[in-house]
Amino acid sequence: MSGLLGAAACTASIPQGKLDTASLAAVSAPIAAVCVLVHKETKENLGDGARGWFRGDWMLAYTSFVLRRADGSVVLIDASTGATVPADLDAAPFWFRWFVGAARDATPLATLLHTAGIDPGRVTHVLVTHPHWDHTGGLAQVPGARVLMSAVDADWVLGQESFVARGAMPHYVKAARDRIDRIVFDGPAVLGWPASRDVFGDGSVLAVPTPGHTPGSTSYLVRAVGESKPWLFVGDAAWVQEGFAEPVHKGRLASAVVDIDKERTADTLGTLHAVHVAGAAHVVTAHDARTWTGIARCPLGPALPLPGSASPATP
Ligand SMILES: [Zn+2]
Repeated sequence: MSGLLGAAACTASIPQGKLDTASLAAVSAPIAAVCVLVHKETKENLGDGARGWFRGDWMLAYTSFVLRRADGSVVLIDASTGATVPADLDAAPFWFRWFVGAARDATPLATLLHTAGIDPGRVTHVLVTHPHWDHTGGLAQVPGARVLMSAVDADWVLGQESFVARGAMPHYVKAARDRIDRIVFDGPAVLGWPASRDVFGDGSVLAVPTPGHTPGSTSYLVRAVGESKPWLFVGDAAWVQEGFAEPVHKGRLASAVVDIDKERTADTLGTLHAVHVAGAAHVVTAHDARTWTGIARCPLGPALPLPGSASPATP
């Protein structure tokens, strides 16, 4: 424990980020629709969202986000929890169950997709923000999807041997090993990031590097039809709104345990803060419902059209 507390005392200061908002023109092909799948909303304060030691003043939620592209295909940002969560938590160390045990009854991804009118087998891609257990636990339930994550994170998590490794359950990713496409940031600078990746080559989703929480944590810029301001899905770069709005690190113990690189986490928070202050994008975290209030819960009215299926509007 003393080692953890010592690390906590070394939390890095957060620098001021700089932006080039004109570069947002690169997000040029709007996504047809965005909605959120909520696997679990807790009624208790279970995590240390920002400041403090153990408890914060936020309600932890587990989510996956759904993007419907213009061609009707369905893409997920993260695949939060699947059917094996209870058994996997039973096999995890006590401290891990203490921290995240509320996820034991989280609704599996496949159930949420079916409820939203989406055949899980028709999801084409999962864009992974980072390979922690609660962002990849549902990968097995979308077996036809390519799994995109940064090359850095893919190499990191596939190299882990423990059942629980710094917030990851590596077996979720290892089971999807043959479906992984590694993201390399070889595209132009965007906003405050020195490089980006046009994920589908059509300007509909830009990936940007937001490392620190994991070595290769990735965020995704998405512009929805009819909305001038894009969404920026940041995963766990910040857990809560305060993380990018103030900005402030996660709580001391949580930060020490779950953010693998404090300096890079600080840089990322500085850039996210600049994005937020400039109003360049809506910053959406994976676990704080206050950050996705503008996104509808799935389903979006009528069931989302599936790839290859007839649209309800088509005779
Ligand atoms: Zn998470």
